[in-house]
Amino acid sequence: MMSLTIRKIMVLGLIGTILLMGNILFVANWLSEKGVVEWAESIRAEYLTGTAIAVLAALLILLVSPRAKTGGLVRRCPVCDHVLLTRGSYCSECGSKAA
Ligand SMILES: [Zn+2]
Repeated sequence: MMSLTIRKIMVLGLIGTILLMGNILFVANWLSEKGVVEWAESIRAEYLTGTAIAVLAALLILLVSPRAKTGGLVRRCPVCDHVLLTRGSYCSECGSKAA
């Protein structure tokens, strides 16, 4: 009796799985017919653009933040506070010796 019930459940589950897979294919076809795939891709493109903007904003905040200035990443002239882009020991803006 017990094994028969399990067999019935298994058959019903198999039928349900087949129907579900058929429905998934049907829904996928319907979505592509309605242009939802293109819509989803445009959403993804917008998401990627938003991510790129967020990364750029984070980099800008990192560069502008006072901690980045004193973090040793950017050398500044002790006299005129000009950013020293070259590795020379003299400031290109005022000519004073940079520490
Ligand atoms: Zn200087």
